[in-house]
Amino acid sequence: MPSSKSEHDTSYEVVIGIEVHTQLATRSKMFCRCAVDTDAEPNTRVCPICLGLPGVLPQTNDAAITLGIKAALALGCEVNLESRWARKHYFSPDLPKGYQITQYDYPLAEHGELELPGLGKKIRIRRVHLEEDAGKLTHGSKETLVDFNRCGVPLAEIVSEPDIRSVEEADAYLKELRLILKALGVSDAEMERGHFRCEPNISVRPVGQKELGVRSEIKNLNSFKAVREGIERAMADQIAWLEQGREIVQTTYLWDEKARELRPMRVKETSADYRYFPEPDLPPLIVKETEIEEIKKGFTRASVTVSQGTTVTGSHRFILPAEKRKEWLDKGLKKQYVEILVTEPEWERYFMQLLNKEVSIKEASTWLLNEARGVMAERKETLSQFKVPVKEMTTLIGLLRDGKLTRPGAKELLAAMAGQGKGARELMEEMDLGAVSDEGLLQEAAKKVLAQNPDVCQKYRKGKTGVIGFLVGQCMSQMRGKADPNAVRRTLEKLL
Ligand code: ADP
Ligand code: MG
Ligand code: ZN
Repeated sequence: MPSSKSEHDTSYEVVIGIEVHTQLATRSKMFCRCAVDTDAEPNTRVCPICLGLPGVLPQTNDAAITLGIKAALALGCEVNLESRWARKHYFSPDLPKGYQITQYDYPLAEHGELELPGLGKKIRIRRVHLEEDAGKLTHGSKETLVDFNRCGVPLAEIVSEPDIRSVEEADAYLKELRLILKALGVSDAEMERGHFRCEPNISVRPVGQKELGVRSEIKNLNSFKAVREGIERAMADQIAWLEQGREIVQTTYLWDEKARELRPMRVKETSADYRYFPEPDLPPLIVKETEIEEIKKGFTRASVTVSQGTTVTGSHRFILPAEKRKEWLDKGLKKQYVEILVTEPEWERYFMQLLNKEVSIKEASTWLLNEARGVMAERKETLSQFKVPVKEMTTLIGLLRDGKLTRPGAKELLAAMAGQGKGARELMEEMDLGAVSDEGLLQEAAKKVLAQNPDVCQKYRKGKTGVIGFLVGQCMSQMRGKADPNAVRRTLEKLL
């Protein structure tokens, strides 16, 4: 278990639990018909309900509830057939109602878990509940502006148990959670837009101590980097305070990215401060078993296509990342390639298109995920800027497969294609990269190499046949890499 050692030789262990607010991918808001469009002109996507004017009645958005259930099921939660809405009161200029409708003592779902990929550890999920977002404040130098367009936008809050024990685990937890939400279409989870907001709760305790330490909570972190740095800062601060014998007061902080410091926002409020009470305007949220079953069905694979004897999953819409990982690993794909496919949808799309063109998994991983990715890294390009379309990549791989190109030739060709955007065949001819298969030329090169290395020939004839590798290499460089090494080997063997 990772721990930090202080100068006084006490080892500390960090304990982390995380709350995530994710914006549900619905077209309209949680309790009214206003569009979810936070890019619109400020205060143009509002109505009496989301502005909290008197005499209005909220109505729940079924689409948001379905997405919430989807997320809960993907996280292995039990969905409560009856949950309730509650009002959480606080004052803020971006909260015109003076309260937020959320779920409190009866949440939508509970008792789930999420397995950290690669680490094999499971983090328990305490609850998943639905709520509405508040508006947005923009602070200028002289004034503060408020935009109510975000008021009432549906959110799911996902709360973990305090099972996380390191920055690495926190990072893995959040990345996997985000992947799941995106894979299911529950949320676009775009962090820089605030659609996946992370609030880690951090405490430390001397190793061996049973009770949890007093926690610090960091509000609304919108990048994995901020989460990592914020947690590290909180740990360091708390260990220092304990070392000084100071009492830690439960506090909510904001992370100051520039100063790399935690700014106290408020000493932790208790739930009593929010005056939670049942939302009188909404009936209990009832979920039918049949609805849950229907949603569960969506998790199973939609279709399967067969390409070159390998089974490839057709529709990925509802496949969970863990399932996808397992599938690719079972098909023999290397771990680092699997991660690319699972975490980068545009790479997965390109990869799948290659497979649809009868390219094998091995060929596609070598030429796309290894070689082409390398070329793009060198050119500082993203896949969308890459000038080699699937069709031309397929042609290149085919030329190599048919012995018309050598491996080094194919690499050179790929780099040139990425630079010039020309077709594989055209460039191969233009650059004279085609593999030499002319028997006469091969013989000529082989004879020359044999004449230059009589001692090696001797060894071969005495039974040390392994030395042929050296001779093949000599021939290859003689022919500037343009020969098919297998053909060279055959020619040499014949001559020897
Ligand atoms: P709230 O922050 O709204 O009061 P909770 O009390 O339910 O909500 O806790 C929120 C999060 O804090 C949960 O993810 C939980 O795992 C985590 N947590 C609670 N106590 C500790 C602790 N002592 N150290 C670290 N995390 C904690
Ligand atoms: Mg909290
Ligand atoms: Zn509205």
